[in-house]
Amino acid sequence: MTRRAILFVADGHRDDFLRPDLCPNLAGFAETGRRFHNHTGNFPSATRASAASIATGCWPGTHGLHGNTMGLPGAGGTVIHDVGDPAFVGSLRAAFGRTLKVPTLAERLAPVGGALIASNVSPGAAYFHDPDGHGHVVHRVGSFGPGRCPLGPDEAPIVSHDAAGDMALCDWFCDRMTGEDGSALGVLWLSDPDLSMHADALGSARHLAGVAAADACFGKLRDSVDAMRAAGDDVLLIACSDHGQETVIGHVAIGDELVAAGLKDGPDSTEVAVAPQGGSGLIYLAGDGVGRLDEITAFLTAHPHVGEVFPGAAMRAVGQAEGDGLAIAFSMARDSQENENGVSGRIWVCTSDSKPGKPVGRGSHGGLGRWERHPFLIAGGGRFAPGTNEHGRTRLIDIAPTILRHLGQPRDGMDGLALPHD
Ligand SMILES: [Zn+2]
Repeated sequence: MTRRAILFVADGHRDDFLRPDLCPNLAGFAETGRRFHNHTGNFPSATRASAASIATGCWPGTHGLHGNTMGLPGAGGTVIHDVGDPAFVGSLRAAFGRTLKVPTLAERLAPVGGALIASNVSPGAAYFHDPDGHGHVVHRVGSFGPGRCPLGPDEAPIVSHDAAGDMALCDWFCDRMTGEDGSALGVLWLSDPDLSMHADALGSARHLAGVAAADACFGKLRDSVDAMRAAGDDVLLIACSDHGQETVIGHVAIGDELVAAGLKDGPDSTEVAVAPQGGSGLIYLAGDGVGRLDEITAFLTAHPHVGEVFPGAAMRAVGQAEGDGLAIAFSMARDSQENENGVSGRIWVCTSDSKPGKPVGRGSHGGLGRWERHPFLIAGGGRFAPGTNEHGRTRLIDIAPTILRHLGQPRDGMDGLALPHD
């Protein structure tokens, strides 16, 4: 009997939308598997650093990928980069001589069956599952095999960035995983419902259509897992999301406000650099900026649209760490009010010229809001007790050690803990 693990991620799917009327396949899996009701996302509650945490079992402060945007040394201080850009893996390597600071599942599993990651979110979020090329990463912008050798269109599909593309990628992934050369680990990461939640109000027909589309993909995948089990494989199936979303109240350009307050030299200055993360932000200090930590912390703490502020070592409380220029993390303010569709949770969003943020009234995420940080999680197969519920807190970093435990591999050097079976 061959042990294998399949991880299904429906990006952005809030735990409270995992309902039988909206997503019968996932809700059915929750009934027959073990559901984790108190699953919590990362800080920032954003996809790219969360993908790296799922891939490594470590907090961002440990793996070194800080958020959806992050600062790298440059221009005499810190320059903010978009982590979603396909070129960012190379930029990170050029800055520090490495990509992530810790090994990924793809690296750990390369000698024992390998990993196939198929992702339809941003290129950066896909590539940080395996930035150094130990397994196979399939993405519409470019796919890679071991050694980061590019895969041609006959070896990997090029799908659209929408629900139809999610299903096309799912079909290809299921064929590949049930075929003769199926990997020990398969990861399928869909763009929906996150894409649909950003495109309209939470609870809208568009959001619900995105939930249904992701659920249809899960139904197809579950049938493939059933076929793998019928053929004799011992398959652990994990279904989850990486974060949720809340409704945008308004926007604040924190970097511009620091300039106006005399705490940053200019809009493009590099001694103080703000990396927006939707419902939160990260601040990098260099040179003359280092001495402004206390003043900037006081400015943010007094700001009516900023929530919690974590200067220096206090960032450890949210899984970030001082170093590489990162000096302050902050969440934006929020409330628990409902939108026009009765969906609770609203957030302020941190913006910059290059990151204008999602429009008011639509969904977004990135901060410490209850629903931003409440993705769903279900595990079935392996030794997970069927039809059971866990109410203790679990985290994104607990997924990788759970997969390694099932595959009989060591799980040293991880911040997370394998999920309880019963
Ligand atoms: Zn996401």
